[in-house]
Amino acid sequence: MNKEFFKNLLRKKRLKLSYPRLLIYQELSDAVNPLSPLELYHCLLKRKRRIGLTSIYRTLELFETLGIAFKIVNGSNTKYKLCESEDHHHHIICKKCGHVVEFKFCDIPNWSKKIIESTGYQITEHQLNFYGFCEDCRKVLRGGVDVPHSHS
Ligand SMILES: [Zn+2]
Ligand SMILES: [Zn+2]
Ligand SMILES: [Zn+2]
Repeated sequence: MNKEFFKNLLRKKRLKLSYPRLLIYQELSDAVNPLSPLELYHCLLKRKRRIGLTSIYRTLELFETLGIAFKIVNGSNTKYKLCESEDHHHHIICKKCGHVVEFKFCDIPNWSKKIIESTGYQITEHQLNFYGFCEDCRKVLRGGVDVPHSHS
């Protein structure tokens, strides 16, 4: 995802291209690994950019809502990574090595119909991440110990 796309998206959604938003976007796009809000805070401080933690949290949530970043939850640990794909997509994240695959097929519209019928809500967006073990990690896991069949 490039900066132009980011700028255009904010414009399209009538959101301000504020300095913190731009800085956080840049920091995430430079990062190789996913970053927690606190790690982001420290990365920005190192560059002499002080952005409040609350503001970082809010910006990351906004990015997630816009579908330009996604959240990786590991216990109480939450990290964010920028999306590579600009189209609607979902993620599957390896719980062992952290590798992420973005895939573009989405079956949720079928599911949404049922949700609308039973709740009466109008659905505007959805986010869904899958977690599991990637092929490489599965091989390692299977190699040594006998791992019980995984249901995830
Ligand atoms: Zn993504
Ligand atoms: Zn893995
Ligand atoms: Zn979807």
